[in-house]
Amino acid sequence: MCSVASGRWVHWFESHLRREKYLQSQATPPLLALQHSSISPSMDDEVEARNGSRDNKEKRKRKQRTTSEIEVMDIEDFGRDETLKIRASLLGWYDLNKRNLPWRTPTTTTTHEDEDDADAHEDLDNRAYAVWVSEVMLQQTRVETVIDYYNRWMQKWPTLHHLSLASLEEVNEMWAGLGYYRRARCLLEGAKMISEGKCGFPRTTSALREVPGIGNYTAGAIASIAFKEAVPVVDGNVVRVIARLKAISSNPKHSATIKNIWRLAGQLVDPCKPGDFNQALMELGATICTPLKPICSACPVSDQCSVLSMSESHRSILVTDYPVKVVKAKKRHDFSAVSVVKILEEQDISKGSQYNSRFLLVKRPNEGLLAGLWEFPSVLLDGEADGATRRKRIDRFLKSFKLDTKKNCRIVSREDVGECVHVFTHIHLTMYVELLVLHLKGGMKISYENEDKETMTWRWIDSEALSSMGLTSGVRKVYNMIQKKVALEPHPCQNKKNNSKKLKDS
Ligand code: SF4
Repeated sequence: MCSVASGRWVHWFESHLRREKYLQSQATPPLLALQHSSISPSMDDEVEARNGSRDNKEKRKRKQRTTSEIEVMDIEDFGRDETLKIRASLLGWYDLNKRNLPWRTPTTTTTHEDEDDADAHEDLDNRAYAVWVSEVMLQQTRVETVIDYYNRWMQKWPTLHHLSLASLEEVNEMWAGLGYYRRARCLLEGAKMISEGKCGFPRTTSALREVPGIGNYTAGAIASIAFKEAVPVVDGNVVRVIARLKAISSNPKHSATIKNIWRLAGQLVDPCKPGDFNQALMELGATICTPLKPICSACPVSDQCSVLSMSESHRSILVTDYPVKVVKAKKRHDFSAVSVVKILEEQDISKGSQYNSRFLLVKRPNEGLLAGLWEFPSVLLDGEADGATRRKRIDRFLKSFKLDTKKNCRIVSREDVGECVHVFTHIHLTMYVELLVLHLKGGMKISYENEDKETMTWRWIDSEALSSMGLTSGVRKVYNMIQKKVALEPHPCQNKKNNSKKLKDS
């Protein structure tokens, strides 16, 4: 082992001894104390609510604070030589190995001698816009998924000005399937705000932070990549790489640890090529220093990696032990009843009668989960519920849309289609799906008259338009279930006699 690596190992060992001594002095078994430090504040609050003890809470908070202070002391700065080596190795590696991604292509090939000229200014703004869109899309989403969304988005709204003229409806539709829809709404709000300001794109991290939805990460990415401000960018990839480079053993979700990783990333960032450096660090985490199978033999910074040198000298230490694993909060389990309401509309055409069908879509409230997005009518249940309870709840809900099965419409058929699970960040949602086919007494005219055109909180849509519109993944899953079911059944036109009989019977 080289002397630098052995020095680092000794430091790591000493710091762990210090921590263990400290934890023992708190009369708490070390392992338990470390687990405490990895409990997120929200989980801790939950436990506390059950205990109902404010004093204990205060004590625990004090202990956590002190524990994290000890851990923070363990995180040393990068040395000057170390920093220079990491910068040079990483930038060289990135030049040769970076993936060819659409948002990395400059918006223009022209080089501007005077950065103050209007064209140069516009090019930089366009570059910043492209970085912004891509970075927002990439949060919580895989690169492979984002590429297609990004290309379609930039085709429709190539500049910030184009986006600022879009409606939330259009933006949501373009975003459909990417999840975390708040991101799309913030992009639109931010674009409108910057456009109205008439000063062009904000060019510093502090100014960027004023824009809705732009946090430290996105501000750092835009400022460093588009405007060459020497500021760091820290995402999950960067946390992992730095935690391994420095053998950081504190909870990576803890605010004190995150703050320190930002500090360390700030030391590393290259002042001449901040954008490339930040992208290189993220690229290293995404392609080489991966969570489960890091390829240390191909890593450009392996000589500076503390965890690698530790694992080479002690078989019991694995590089994948870092960053330390944090127990994830348990997801809430919700249940909902979803009714895909289909209205059959009989039309006389020259060669006889045929049925058109339309589906009811309802807009979700403008706040909360999936805010402002369209879905099939659904009600949240108190827990698992039998068919009768679900139908009762749905029937009551449908009255809000002037659909009363006892007054103005008749049930042609009503069947349970099955269950479908959709997983959100904190929620595991089981949806009980039914297909409810109705025939309106007095025809669709009545329904259109009742449609809420002013606020558009619900609307009727034909199957062709439904198939092509942007739907959230959960709604798409439900619709696919319905399509599969309908495909197995004869079309209502072919089964007109049966339908007429059912109408008479119901
Ligand atoms: S040497 Fe291995 S663990 Fe260390 S930074 Fe490189 S890939 Fe990650």
